[in-house]
Amino acid sequence: MKVVILLGPPGSGKGTVAERLRGDKGGYVHFATGDMLREEVSNSTAVGQEAEGFMKRGELVPDEVIIRIVETRLEAGDPTAAYLFDGFPRTLVQADLLDESLAGRGAKIDYVFFLATPRDVILQRLTGRRVCKACGASFHVTNIPPAVEGVCDACGGELYQRKDDNEETIANRLEVYNRQTESLISRYEEKGLLVSLDSDQGVASLMAEIDAKLQSGVDA
Ligand code: ADP
Ligand code: ZN
Repeated sequence: MKVVILLGPPGSGKGTVAERLRGDKGGYVHFATGDMLREEVSNSTAVGQEAEGFMKRGELVPDEVIIRIVETRLEAGDPTAAYLFDGFPRTLVQADLLDESLAGRGAKIDYVFFLATPRDVILQRLTGRRVCKACGASFHVTNIPPAVEGVCDACGGELYQRKDDNEETIANRLEVYNRQTESLISRYEEKGLLVSLDSDQGVASLMAEIDAKLQSGVDA
């Protein structure tokens, strides 16, 4: 089991990076807790009903709910796969539980890619973001426009704007990130796992940096 974590504020491009790596040789499994939660909400499951209000307000869903989802999905997943965690862990409690859970599987975190992103870039990205209802691929009205407006390039699905991508909720998500998630940067830095990247440099060159790092550790 290989484990890579994508860490960064909302709008730092975690999903876009994961999307590009998914088709790659490494065959990474995109493990995005936000996508999982949105799926639970749209299926009106018990977890979805519990999570919906927090997500609408841009607050974190309680740790115990997240941990339940993560454990269930890891149990059901391929134990030999390479995992790309996107949006998880987001709190120290979640980070501790991830370490424990991985240790129980004889695995550990290989890299944590931190996507540093200026605030004005975050706001511009999130307010213009459009997401595919069918496959979850991300687009942007001006930065990454789809070939046909409102239609996903990858699967032809319908594009929509997430409910939490409005200015008020975005401001709250950023505040929550600063308060609860940012401290994970120093945790992983101290463990020697952190790779800091400038997310505001164009997808191609960002991916080249990530690929180089992943290649350098092929033995791991
Ligand atoms: P973004 O990174 O753009 O904010 P996500 O799709 O990762 O978007 O998350 C959307 C929402 O889902 C979050 O605002 C939060 O309410 C909830 N969420 C996702 N992952 C977690 C997590 N690991 N812990 C708590 N809440 C989460
Ligand atoms: Zn699609």
